[in-house]
Amino acid sequence: MNIAQPVTSEVNGVAFSLLLPSETRKLSVKQIYNPQMLDTLNNPVKGGAYDPALGPINARDLCSTCMLDGTKCPGHFGHIELPCPVVNPLLWNDTVNTLRGMCFYCGYMRANRKTVMIATAKLRLLHKGLVKEALDLDIGTLSKKKATGASRGDSDKDEAVEDNTFEEDTDSQDNLSVTQLSDRLRKYCRRAIRKAADIGDYKQTNVNREVSNVIKWITEECRKSKFCRNCGARNTSIRAVNNTSILKEAHSQAQ
Ligand SMILES: [Zn+2]
Ligand SMILES: [Zn+2]
Repeated sequence: MNIAQPVTSEVNGVAFSLLLPSETRKLSVKQIYNPQMLDTLNNPVKGGAYDPALGPINARDLCSTCMLDGTKCPGHFGHIELPCPVVNPLLWNDTVNTLRGMCFYCGYMRANRKTVMIATAKLRLLHKGLVKEALDLDIGTLSKKKATGASRGDSDKDEAVEDNTFEEDTDSQDNLSVTQLSDRLRKYCRRAIRKAADIGDYKQTNVNREVSNVIKWITEECRKSKFCRNCGARNTSIRAVNNTSILKEAHSQAQ
């Protein structure tokens, strides 16, 4: 590379996302476990929030991670292992809304199982930037059409005919079993993702908007009734208190 010739570059987009716990641990240079920060002589305590591994607190001190002094060390991330699950404050509303659509008896979302499967498939497609394919996906489409090779039991042949050849199927929406729907969703997603393997110029804003629409749709489906569509159990309400606690209300005597 000839550094005498400037290379033009253009930022096409910026995306923000949350770190996974594994990514946080990889970024961290030190686990913080000591609630005490300074000792009696005002020196940093090992494992505390001022641990020297995170960067020196005085300009003349050397950082134990990068060995630079306090004026040049950029500072380093540490992490705290929480002893129990804690809701991320940024995801508080999403967590409460999701819990309001959950069944506390069988552990599934309260919506019809097939609806949840379609929403999951849509999100999977949107994760790959396939907005049109996600919008086109509904149970009516999957019920009307199926690949001609679907009954042959040969996955390679199934794949070959899926791309171009479809024929009307007599299955109605009610007759489509969960297993059949799962199979068709899997093939639909796999085919769409394979066809668009090189896609990279989609608009993230469109994807985010559709992701929000799918989540809103499935949340509304889950909250249509207090009765779970999977196990039939009647669920109680969820109450969020001061953005700190989530309470499950008890069944009343009349119920
Ligand atoms: Zn450093
Ligand atoms: Zn249930």
